[in-house]
Amino acid sequence: MNFFKNARLPAVLLFCVAAVQGHPGDIEWERVVPLESRDVPVRIVFAEGREGWAEFILDSTSDYLRACEQYLRLAFPASGGFTIVGEEKTLLRGRRVGGVNLGREVRVEYGLTPIGRPALLYHELAHYYFGGRPGLEWLAEGIVSFLPIVLSEARFLPPGIAERQGIYRHWGFRLLSSLLRSF
Ligand SMILES: [Zn+2]
Repeated sequence: MNFFKNARLPAVLLFCVAAVQGHPGDIEWERVVPLESRDVPVRIVFAEGREGWAEFILDSTSDYLRACEQYLRLAFPASGGFTIVGEEKTLLRGRRVGGVNLGREVRVEYGLTPIGRPALLYHELAHYYFGGRPGLEWLAEGIVSFLPIVLSEARFLPPGIAERQGIYRHWGFRLLSSLLRSF
């Protein structure tokens, strides 16, 4: 799901996003992801007790942004940094979407991004590169779902078989996922 339209969100919406970010008692960590083009500040907001999840998400974010930069040969396109928010349910306009890229903020559900299964996170992060023009959102959705498979096969991502299986399974490529076990 993508709601990021080249950072042209109206200021009032950005204010609302900031206002609803996280939940009472949430923990915030900050990290810098060093890319070749520049250092990208990444903040993560998560519930107490999910520190292991937060580490996994930050490590996966770092791996994936580096892989995108190297494979696409494009500098990270968003200005400044962004925040990743973990939550039980991710809603957009009252509808459950599982994950969303709002520009300054990526929101993902804990249950859909468990440790070892970064496929949905990868999808949302890739929306920074492929936001989708009006009328062509379907094309961006396809690209950002397929890109992790390309990056895995091309070894731009750490070669964890479990992660690759998770990426395949997440997007319905069950046959490819099962074939990986025989190697
Ligand atoms: Zn999407």
